[in-house]
Amino acid sequence: MAAAAASQACMKLKAIFPGALFVANTTQFEDQSLAIWSDTCVLTPTCVFLPSCAADIGKALPIIKKAGSRFSVRAGGHMPVPGAQSVEPGVFISLSNLNQRTLNRYSRTASIGPGQTWMEVYNWLAPYGLAVNGGRYPTVGVGGVLVGGGIGLFSSTQGWGCDNVVGFEAVLADGTIAHVTRKGKYSDLFWALRGGHNNFAIVTRFDVRYFEATSAYVKVVAWNASAQSTSEEFFSALDAYMAPGGGVDDPNVAIIPTVAAAPSLGLYEVITDQFALGTDSSPAAFANFSNVNGPIMFELGGQVFESWTKFPQLLEATGARGLRQLFWSVSFKADRRAISIANRTVIDMTFERLADAQNAAVALTYQPVSESWLKASERRGGNAIDLDPGLGTFIAGLIAIQWTDAADDARMNAFGVDVTAEIKRQTAELGFYVDFVYLNDAGPSQKPFSTYGRHGTSLQRLKHIQNRYDPDHFLDKYLAHGFALER
Ligand SMILES: Cc1cc2nc3c(=O)[nH]c(=O)nc-3n(C[C@H](O)[C@H](O)[C@H](O)COP(=O)(O)OP(=O)(O)OC[C@H]3O[C@@H](n4cnc5c(N)ncnc54)[C@H](O)[C@@H]3O)c2cc1C
Repeated sequence: MAAAAASQACMKLKAIFPGALFVANTTQFEDQSLAIWSDTCVLTPTCVFLPSCAADIGKALPIIKKAGSRFSVRAGGHMPVPGAQSVEPGVFISLSNLNQRTLNRYSRTASIGPGQTWMEVYNWLAPYGLAVNGGRYPTVGVGGVLVGGGIGLFSSTQGWGCDNVVGFEAVLADGTIAHVTRKGKYSDLFWALRGGHNNFAIVTRFDVRYFEATSAYVKVVAWNASAQSTSEEFFSALDAYMAPGGGVDDPNVAIIPTVAAAPSLGLYEVITDQFALGTDSSPAAFANFSNVNGPIMFELGGQVFESWTKFPQLLEATGARGLRQLFWSVSFKADRRAISIANRTVIDMTFERLADAQNAAVALTYQPVSESWLKASERRGGNAIDLDPGLGTFIAGLIAIQWTDAADDARMNAFGVDVTAEIKRQTAELGFYVDFVYLNDAGPSQKPFSTYGRHGTSLQRLKHIQNRYDPDHFLDKYLAHGFALER
């Protein structure tokens, strides 16, 4: 039934878009359907549709709907949630050709298509001395980051990535092409598209506020932390960074502090990726990290570069495509005890439970969400995430799990569930737990929308908006989601 509906949709689409519809055993089909970050997410769709513009998608949706076929939308392909961007059977819509870039000097915005990587956008803007607040990792896609929120290098002053989106061109469930802005008839949809994931429309262009950014201090350093003193020095440096008046309160600074374990190698390491806009070659924000002693596993940068884009460039060395990967999100106060609980829990459980899993590695990244970030978000009109700045600075923890053997999939999922629950339990006991699951970093069974809204109101409002723009629940039921609105 589902396969027949998908074949029917593919056949009809082929008749209308003969040059943009591809089936198995063609180069385009393989290239597009395999361009996905985590191997756990690679499926075999019935066909790949490669639209060139919003109008193509506007024509395709009624055809897919009429056939009763499932479908998926893939931008950068990085969400490590099986079924988020691919489908089997069904129509796989690749946004790869929606990669426009236009600078609008009058409105100080960049109009960018969803199908490109952030590195492509940054490389285009940097020669103008400009930046936008997008993903930090270079190969992540514009589309998924901006519909899911967006933690960027400039979030301390700019808020979430989606907060700087001032206009969306979006295809609605019935194929209508909508120009969605804060004011006007789509103002409710504007709010929902800022963080509401793919539950409302397919965004074909983002109009994003840009700002000036040129040189920056950039450093990536990893220490082997098997000596207890190394991790203690690392955590006291992190503590100083998180303290009021520390790096976390410096608007020009960003950090990605990470602890990681590879149990089969007996490896425990601590890492910082440091970023400071400007020309200071020794930023005070990171001074305490120079007290960390221990064998250096790798060190990159450590100087001021002409372009801030050196940071995403260097970051690429720290990631790997083509493994089996999972993310899990857990948040807690930026208190030393909570930071320590999270570290101990992740590292101990990784060594206890995953020592025999092939090529298993687990990393916990402490992503500081500062009060100034939440205020910047509010100033820009807010979004579906809608966190109260009164919450103060906290840490949006990201647990990233990787492995290579498909036989370990269920076990790795269970590990994600358990490690997150344990951190929640222990931090809650001390009053440090923060009930916030960041959708773009969430695990498959997590429920981000239930944590959104300062009075828990976002989910209700999102459902209301969904009913308005998709009364038949076509996108809800037939489009593959990382995270549907929770019922
Ligand atoms: C290595 C790595 C680094 C990361 N770094 C960051 C980071 O620095 N900051 C951060 O905030 N997050 C980061 N993330 C998380 C990332 O934001 C999410 O995984 C995001 O969803 C990826 O977007 P994508 O376009 O690459 O992925 P995709 O898998 O293509 O898309 C993710 C989801 O969004 C939907 N979607 C994509 N484009 C559109 C669109 N135009 N309209 C409607 N729906 C759409 C898709 O259907 C899918 O469900 C990172 C992830 C990885 C794997």
